[in-house]
Amino acid sequence: MVKKTKGSGRFGARYGAPLKRKRLNIEEKQKKLYECPLCLKHSVKRVSSGIWHCHKCDTKFAGRAYTLGE
Ligand SMILES: [Zn+2]
Repeated sequence: MVKKTKGSGRFGARYGAPLKRKRLNIEEKQKKLYECPLCLKHSVKRVSSGIWHCHKCDTKFAGRAYTLGE
């Protein structure tokens, strides 16, 4: 009985692999959206070089040309 439980656990881990791959694909599509430092929502999009805009709290702020952050 104990061995069977361990076996099902392994299968559970294997089933989790494809789900993680799907998540990675979704994250790749959302790469253009960044986390807002004000409302912490992933709704920040680059307006122009160094200018970013959050759709949630409607705030524009300066950042790096291609990525947010320091
Ligand atoms: Zn925001």
